[in-house]
Amino acid sequence: MKENFLGVDVSSYSYDELVRNLSNDIKTNQQSFIVAINPEKILKAQEDPNLMNLLNEATYQIPDGVGAVLASRLKGGKIKERVTGIDMFLALCEQAEIEGNSIFLYGAKPGVADMASENLVKRFPSLKISGVLDGYEKDQDRIVRTINEAKPDILFVALGSPAQEYWIVENMKNLDVNVFQGVGGSFDVISG
Ligand code: UDP
Repeated sequence: MKENFLGVDVSSYSYDELVRNLSNDIKTNQQSFIVAINPEKILKAQEDPNLMNLLNEATYQIPDGVGAVLASRLKGGKIKERVTGIDMFLALCEQAEIEGNSIFLYGAKPGVADMASENLVKRFPSLKISGVLDGYEKDQDRIVRTINEAKPDILFVALGSPAQEYWIVENMKNLDVNVFQGVGGSFDVISG
């Protein structure tokens, strides 16, 4: 269920299919990593083989732009709809509330993840938020320890791209978390 654009894989799953797969990954205790793909990242990856490998290493590369949808249509491909990072984030929160899975928000300026967390609970009253941590903490061991102690099922990382993707790949083996998503400026949007 992947198509390739200039060397970068893009998943053709819809929100519903992704949410179902990810919820299954939590049930079967597997790790998945979601990265949002846009034309900017595809272009950057042309000159940066490390970035290209990193993007292709993710479990699901979501088509966060109309470009991939149009290009897929022209090729007779299967990408039917745009899947944005922020809507995927919200769809995962909605599913987590239904299934009783917990989330953790890591990233953005001090106070922002707390505000985003309050707004998420207004929208999804039974959502379990096991913790938040700002994106300016420098002690990597402390970050990993704090997240592992909170034991979330899903970790949203908002450090900007591609820093958040490099952070996820470097730390996922040390984290007892099933689903990882890099969400860019989403905490800033949700906190406002
Ligand atoms: N950020 C962070 N730590 C850093 C650098 C950035 O937590 O060391 C946060 C920043 O506060 C913002 C997010 O990362 O909330 C980046 O948002 P932006 O919209 O620039 O990311 P993009 O969606 O463009 O990747």
